[in-house]
Amino acid sequence: MMTSLHSIDSLRNAIREERTTAIAVASEYYQRIQNYDGEVGAFLTLCEERAMKQAGLIDQMAAEGQPLPPLAGVPIAIKDVMVTAGVRTTAGSRILDNFIPPYDCSAVTRLEAAGAVILGKLNCDEFAMGSSNENSAYRPVHNPRDKTRVPGGSSGGSAAAVAAGMAIATLGSDTGGSIRQPASFCGVVGLKPTYGRVSRYGLIAFASSLDHIGPFANTVEEVALLLRTIAGRDPMDSTSADVAVPDYVAELVKPVKGLRVGVAKEYFAEGLSPEVRTAVEAAIQELAKLGCEIIPVSLPHTEYAISTYYIIATGEASSNLARYDGARYGFRAKSSTLSEMYRKTRDAGFGAEVKRRIMLGTYALSAGYYDAYYLKAQKVRTLIARDFKEAFRWVDVIASPTCPTTAFRLGEKSNDPMAMYLADIYTVTANLAGVPGISVPCGESSEKLPIGLQLFARHFDEATLLRVAHAYQQAKSRLQHG
Ligand code: GLN
Repeated sequence: MMTSLHSIDSLRNAIREERTTAIAVASEYYQRIQNYDGEVGAFLTLCEERAMKQAGLIDQMAAEGQPLPPLAGVPIAIKDVMVTAGVRTTAGSRILDNFIPPYDCSAVTRLEAAGAVILGKLNCDEFAMGSSNENSAYRPVHNPRDKTRVPGGSSGGSAAAVAAGMAIATLGSDTGGSIRQPASFCGVVGLKPTYGRVSRYGLIAFASSLDHIGPFANTVEEVALLLRTIAGRDPMDSTSADVAVPDYVAELVKPVKGLRVGVAKEYFAEGLSPEVRTAVEAAIQELAKLGCEIIPVSLPHTEYAISTYYIIATGEASSNLARYDGARYGFRAKSSTLSEMYRKTRDAGFGAEVKRRIMLGTYALSAGYYDAYYLKAQKVRTLIARDFKEAFRWVDVIASPTCPTTAFRLGEKSNDPMAMYLADIYTVTANLAGVPGISVPCGESSEKLPIGLQLFARHFDEATLLRVAHAYQQAKSRLQHG
């Protein structure tokens, strides 16, 4: 499914040297979407007019011999939880079915300012709640590597679009693993930056203290380039941090020899598929061959991560989703009184999983239960964050599997929310602690399903995280291509 113009670098050069045009590239990608997306279901909305206008501007710059910005003409698509001015944004929900936002998400603004061509909006679980993309109100997404399987979630469309070559890179959001897990299931690279690294302005909120925006691409290098573009303080988001943004791409070439890689036994426990374990252990051996020192560490509160996450995330969601009542945006049910409008709109507009979470979260926040559940969960969250802090006294990155299994079959877990929640065990911790995490492909199962290696680093140390991930990806491709 790959064309010759499948990397950011080759594409930009081709446009600069006028061997192709941004318009031709965008048309080619729309053609690919036309050809493949019927079976995959990654896109919810296309914005051809906006894309062609931007592509035209890039072509004009190239024709005038102006220097091209770093993402000139690069076809990128956006998870449908980030608002786009004039382009329908649904969050995968019926309740926002006809919602046309009046402004752009900051991350999208920054991508376009760097020359990217936004192709459209990507399918996802409703309000980013889920691990399989089956909670989309519109249609499930099929894993391009095996169409009988889920692509993961909630950014399933973002991972599948890259895996199927329908966009060079995409943005997703990660509240408990929603970038890293689908990246792992679809065999692409996905990064969740540090909390505060990328502005959340214009990201439709699920759980505000856990939500992150991050990039997907085929290579760590491209992910580094996207992060460099979208990272940094934004006055529109007071939680975005005023921390200098390094040149992540330039940093990639620094040697990894001597870096210390932690391995936590809690991430290789019961429930981990033997094939995933073997592939991840081999990847860690590869890091050792590159000169990294492998050091055992412990993250002892990992066993409480799932319960902690599902209390905090649902509590915040119940509050964030209170705004969808039919009065201001999106869908409104026919009704004769105001309270009936609220009730009917929310009943018809939200899907089952979203309702389950609103109820769970409302319960955990209500008087009498707040102390027992929400407050307790906040305390355990602090312990989980401390586990990382302690481990990072001894190591520079921590390596683990991204997920306990490879992609499961469509329908396999959709009636068992507990089983679905438990699969988040290795990813939710980084959201609770706020540390950056990345998933890089590290092999395949006997059924040819991708497996992901996950790496964590200290707060705001994406440079080291990307450097190790890049060194690993380079070494692996040398092994494969001799
Ligand atoms: N699978 C997790 C959930 O269902 C994570 C979702 C996410 O990161 N947005 O909440």
